[in-house]
Amino acid sequence: MTDFSKLNTDKLFINGEWQDSDGGDMHAVLNPATEEVICEVVQGSVADVDRAVAAARTAFNSWRNTTAAERAAFLNAIADGMEKRKEDLIQAVSQALGCPEHITKWLHIDGPIYAVRYYAERAALMEKTEKVGHSLLIREPIGVCGFITPWNYPLHQFVGKVAPALAAGCTMIAKPSEITPLQDYVMAEIIASVGLPPGVFNLVPGAGPIVGAALSAHPDIDMVSFTGSTRAGVEVAKAAAPTVKRVTQELGGKSPLIITPDADLEAAVRWGCEDVFINSGQTCTALTRMLVPAERYDEAVEIAKKVAEEVAIGTGADAFMGPLCSQRQREIVRGYIEKGVAEGARLVTGGAEAPEGFDKGFYVKPTVFADVSNDMAIAREEIFGPVTCLIPYQDMDEAIAIANDTEYGLSSGVWAKDADSAMPVVRRIEAGLCFVNGGEFNYDAPFGGYKRSGNGREFGEAGLDEFIELKSVQLPA
Ligand code: NAD
Repeated sequence: MTDFSKLNTDKLFINGEWQDSDGGDMHAVLNPATEEVICEVVQGSVADVDRAVAAARTAFNSWRNTTAAERAAFLNAIADGMEKRKEDLIQAVSQALGCPEHITKWLHIDGPIYAVRYYAERAALMEKTEKVGHSLLIREPIGVCGFITPWNYPLHQFVGKVAPALAAGCTMIAKPSEITPLQDYVMAEIIASVGLPPGVFNLVPGAGPIVGAALSAHPDIDMVSFTGSTRAGVEVAKAAAPTVKRVTQELGGKSPLIITPDADLEAAVRWGCEDVFINSGQTCTALTRMLVPAERYDEAVEIAKKVAEEVAIGTGADAFMGPLCSQRQREIVRGYIEKGVAEGARLVTGGAEAPEGFDKGFYVKPTVFADVSNDMAIAREEIFGPVTCLIPYQDMDEAIAIANDTEYGLSSGVWAKDADSAMPVVRRIEAGLCFVNGGEFNYDAPFGGYKRSGNGREFGEAGLDEFIELKSVQLPA
């Protein structure tokens, strides 16, 4: 068991040192399964942000001139450090988020370690030049970056920003969610241990409207990369606008899964439900609107009920689903379940009460709604809990129309007879991701949304492009 009191959570990491905050309230991080305090974390101030930005600006002058090979070596050393501290990373995420440890390992930790190595390999792309007529195109790092991340996949979101930024030659200030800041402290220790030059990476935890807002508005930050709710993402973009900095946004979703008439219904519905229930439904790509052919609807509802009722709840070695991350999140999810019933959807299983035997912890039951129409709030708004909605459709045109009738466009899924027959449907869905017949997440491929799910991409080579300024050098004839 990791001793979190050994982490420097009363300090900020600025300019390669653990520094005191110039403000310094403490915020309790809770374990949502036990409701007990794990540790207290300092909340940075606007003055702390200024100090961190000054350090990052100074560091950028030399870090930008390092070779790709030097930056790749640092990234590989960080990945090695993550392997060594894997248990601490698992505990940091699992305890503050409530995700069972055995699931945390593969869902939250293994992929980010892989992604750090991926960007070590891609650092060399920064040195690539291209000739376009009489011009030479060269790639340069954008500069000082501010990173604002949420609680639901806290290490993914950290690595999706920090690793490509380091590969590109940028410097940065990270601000984790108030709910899950601990993995950022472990990462800061790892980064300090590999000898990254002071000021390249800085950590200033704190409140969104204070530290997040200060990063967004800061005149000496060149880019803000935000992941979180559409509400806060809009605030970030507004605050950033007067300084014309680059803003990337990874926001919410209300993603559809279209099951075609010739699909293996049992496999499709099972996969679709588990996709919603894993991480207690707190997944921005969760396929929370399951679109089922009307003639197979009753059968699909029965399968979904069975799958939901089989879900093992808790945080132990056999558990599939832990609690929600906070009391507030539980109240939001319960509110939506009550709203769904009030709107006339049929509650097939689950409901707003705590699961039996879970009086402590912010648990809700895996919940299935049937007879959902796409204009109900439970089909339009992101619930961010283990709640799935089954919606019947008559033909594929109607399925596509329902799938695209959303302000979001992050993710989607198609389950058809096979991948080839899914492709015509895939092409008609307005979303940045599409999972076909249970295809897995791929860290080498770009991740990001259409419409109000965001701007820009993370992961893959497109995730590195976000941190690049392209310079056109017009050469004499
Ligand atoms: P949130 O928007 O409340 O908070 C996200 C981060 O923004 C936190 O660090 C918070 O402190 C900060 N923040 C809040 N207000 C801010 C402000 N005014 N200015 C600057 N920063 C501010 O979201 P959350 O509740 O932590 O996370 C859940 C949301 O994140 C969901 O809507 C989910 O879909 C979305 N999300 C999206 C993705 C994606 O990649 N598209 C990934 C994970 C989560």
